[in-house]
Amino acid sequence: MTSDQIQIATTSSKQTQHLGQKIGSLIRSATIIALSGDLGSGKTTLIQGISRGLDVPAEYYITSPTYTLINQYPGRLPLFHVDLYRIEDSESLHDIGLYDILQENGVIAIEWADKLDGGILTEYISIAMAFVSDDSRKLFLTAYGLKENDLLKKLQSV
Ligand code: ADP
Ligand code: MG
Repeated sequence: MTSDQIQIATTSSKQTQHLGQKIGSLIRSATIIALSGDLGSGKTTLIQGISRGLDVPAEYYITSPTYTLINQYPGRLPLFHVDLYRIEDSESLHDIGLYDILQENGVIAIEWADKLDGGILTEYISIAMAFVSDDSRKLFLTAYGLKENDLLKKLQSV
């Protein structure tokens, strides 16, 4: 079940974080957020907000991992931050442990998710981020799956 695409504009990194926080606070069970968009489009910034909404303690400051490809943070549900920017081929997805964390009952936020082969993810929320100007970004959100659809509906009504 695929939702209509929703578009949200933000005009500051704070607004993007706030949106992420709303998304995080609506998450009740294992959920995958697949992010795409150029460097600097705000993927990591959005995930910082998601971490707040999942009650990850404030002393954890999420940055793009430089060498690690997966970082884990404690929250209401464990948050896995995956960054595939440096991934070379789909075989290394095994090596970095992506398939292992897909089995876990956690929230998985994946930057550069467009590098994944189609079909690896079945139920997820896709968020494509686009640079508009220095402080403005556009986010295009699509839900795949029932509970994912539900979350986007709730997001639009708050
Ligand atoms: P990515 O992970 O996509 O490479 P980052 O979140 O690391 O992007 O970086 C986004 C940069 O753009 C940050 O320096 C952030 O402060 C800045 N920025 C400016 N306006 C926005 C906005 N509306 N949303 C998100 N980031 C913004
Ligand atoms: Mg990033």
